[in-house]
Amino acid sequence: MNTIALKRGKEAFLYRKHPWIFSGAIYSDTSKINDGEIIKLTDAEDNFAAIGFFQPGSIAIRILSFEEIEIDQKFWNTRVSSAVRLREELGLLNEGSNICRLIHGEGDQLSGLIVDFYNGVAIIQAHAVGMYLNTQKISLALQSALGDKLKAIYSKSKETLPERLDIENEYVFGSCETPHIAKEYNHSFSINWIDGQKTGFFIDQRENRLLLAKYAKNKKVLNTFCYSGGFSIYALEAGATEVHSLDSSKKAIELVEQNVKLSNHKDKHKSITADAVKYMNNIESDYDVIVLDPPAFAKHKNKRHQAIKAYTRLNANAIRQIKSGGIIFTFSCSQVVDPFQFQKAIVNAAIKVGRQVRILEQLHQPADHPINAFHPEGEYLKGLIIQVE
Ligand code: SAH
Repeated sequence: MNTIALKRGKEAFLYRKHPWIFSGAIYSDTSKINDGEIIKLTDAEDNFAAIGFFQPGSIAIRILSFEEIEIDQKFWNTRVSSAVRLREELGLLNEGSNICRLIHGEGDQLSGLIVDFYNGVAIIQAHAVGMYLNTQKISLALQSALGDKLKAIYSKSKETLPERLDIENEYVFGSCETPHIAKEYNHSFSINWIDGQKTGFFIDQRENRLLLAKYAKNKKVLNTFCYSGGFSIYALEAGATEVHSLDSSKKAIELVEQNVKLSNHKDKHKSITADAVKYMNNIESDYDVIVLDPPAFAKHKNKRHQAIKAYTRLNANAIRQIKSGGIIFTFSCSQVVDPFQFQKAIVNAAIKVGRQVRILEQLHQPADHPINAFHPEGEYLKGLIIQVE
């Protein structure tokens, strides 16, 4: 196994147990180390520090363990089964709820690995080359942890790894026709991991969708940036009088239509293919509830300021035009915008349009998207439920 030494004075990284080592902290010449190779990390005195994956780039090492252990099948089985146990305890692997994130990267001590689960089918998405190279072992570990709950595993890392690797997306265990029906709190969804965005569904909004159901009865709801219509289905099932789902992607709107069909509330639903930002500039003002769940406006710190301005503008339009007493579910999934900055953007939006706003609830990502306490970057989803006077 190749060894990489840290620069003197960079040991602080190790005390903080942060799972990433940046290239600037490395002393050794890494030019001969392969992409995704397992390496041993030492401090400047040659003392063992950690085992991890090397990958050229800013995040040069993703730590797998701070103990000197073998990264063998047993390692993968232990980590994967611990992650699966948690989801079982959360009640996310049963008949009425069988959609969840099984492995959430650093939050499950597997930096660079995402595994999502849809009623018997696991989708592996590697964000680090080292994880991708271990797909087979991860697949065996999933089979062992899930037993007969698992029918197929699809590897979908082409979009998330460097093009030079020439990766194909493929089944690595069993197979399953798409779209495939899965359930979230007894709401049926048609999932397509092959054609869909990410692994096919936005699992991270599950608990927030459940909250929307509380506010949607007898209400007219606008769900913007709706993707496959998760929020729309909950609103329809909860007894909304009318639901409008809006997304700029035609493909997303087709998914909404499929899901609305499954729900049997077609007569109360309308799809709108449009740019949400433009649409919000001038909507009819008779919505009682509006959901704003845009994609990350900033992917890097240097775009944070612009993103905050964009959140303010979008929310100002919703606050200005919603009915009196109306409810807005507003979100940001930009990791670089923290919950405090986001809340400030919403307060500024309310000031801008001169309407009184109450914050009813502060929202975040669910427990199957856990945050490793030593990796604060894992916190990304934040939201507010606000009421406009
Ligand atoms: N709320 C969704 C997830 C939203 S993901 C859910 O619960 O499943 C963000 C969505 O915004 C994507 O579907 C993307 O197609 C859409 N989108 C991106 N830019 C947009 C724009 N300018 N106008 C409307 N939709 C947009």
